[in-house]
Amino acid sequence: MAFGIVTLRRRNLQLETAKEARKLAMVVENTFNAVAIADFGKTNTLLYVNPSWEHMLGYTKEEVVNKKLAPALEAIKRYPEVEKEFWKCIEDGKTFSGELEMQRKNGTFFWIAANIIPLKDEAGNVYTWCNVFRDITNEKAVDRMKSEFVSLASHQLRTPLTGIKWLSEIVMSDPANVFTKSGREAMDGIVMSNERMISLVNDLLDVSHLETGVNYNLVLKPTDVIPLIQGAITDVKHLASKNNVTVVSDAHAPRELILNIDGGKIQQVLENLIGNAIKYSKPNTNVVVKVIQESDRAVFSVADRGIGIPSEQQTLVFTRFFRANNASKVDISGTGLGLYIVKGIIETHHGKVWFESKEGEGSTFYFSLPMGASALISRSV
Ligand code: ADP
Repeated sequence: MAFGIVTLRRRNLQLETAKEARKLAMVVENTFNAVAIADFGKTNTLLYVNPSWEHMLGYTKEEVVNKKLAPALEAIKRYPEVEKEFWKCIEDGKTFSGELEMQRKNGTFFWIAANIIPLKDEAGNVYTWCNVFRDITNEKAVDRMKSEFVSLASHQLRTPLTGIKWLSEIVMSDPANVFTKSGREAMDGIVMSNERMISLVNDLLDVSHLETGVNYNLVLKPTDVIPLIQGAITDVKHLASKNNVTVVSDAHAPRELILNIDGGKIQQVLENLIGNAIKYSKPNTNVVVKVIQESDRAVFSVADRGIGIPSEQQTLVFTRFFRANNASKVDISGTGLGLYIVKGIIETHHGKVWFESKEGEGSTFYFSLPMGASALISRSV
């Protein structure tokens, strides 16, 4: 009787253990993390890899299990310090954690965060190693972008701040300076530097809202874009007269063109493109603003006869903080964020933005906005 109960208990225990093992196997087979069991320190072969491991590395399990090919070992070899620490962990039977670049079967590289954990028997002897890792390539790229962004933004802010500092020092050195010509010039400089900083901070806030989506809600409603064009032209009038440039809108434009858009944001885009066209124009030339209606979209264009953009730099135009060599050389002020914001606003409207440009001859910037069925009511003159 007692013997029967012991057998039953043992059998139940075996069943329970088998059930637990199946549960664990299911988890390992279906996790998004790559899992491998390896015989580190003995044959250095892989004994098992899960489907995520195969997917991340591009090898099938048949190609690697029981073979002398352990991509983690190959990766570690490229980092002598890490390699030393890794083999020390293996020797001491301790967990190894680290970040390193692995190579896929197709030769491409990706970053992983790895944990290599010893599996021990009841006596505490390591009988195999469990290798768990996840792809952190995107996290690394985001981290790098964040640091680049902070560094570039700080550099951009430092110039006007330094200007304010030394111009204030000139004025403060003698209060009578305020009433002299050079004192007033210094005050003008302070105001200008301050304005540059305000516009840079506004641009930075726009970039941050666009990228995070926080505080960036488009208020879409049917809006006539013709008054938006006129409004944008009026807002940059002072800049146009200062630079001796005339901004004209196309006489053949539709009288009314209603799109489902956030009017404020689209006017911001127009002001930016027209402002750029004026800034980078040669004096006594025209900037021409047009909008035409195509079957399923409205296409806006802003053309200038200005300095143009060097062909070898054209692929960078919509990236953050980009300023072409010829623009920086002629000392035209700018933050290099305007077109990045323009692209963000147009793409959140499901539109497109592009340009054609020839150095020394001029540029035309275009953007298109979709004319959804509910958005379109258009009449030509
Ligand atoms: P910025 O504040 O420097 O004008 P943008 O993002 O608006 O920043 O433009 C990025 C760069 O693209 C400019 O610095 C300039 O080199 C170039 N660019 C933009 N628009 C024009 C244009 N109409 N003509 C010539 N270059 C332009």
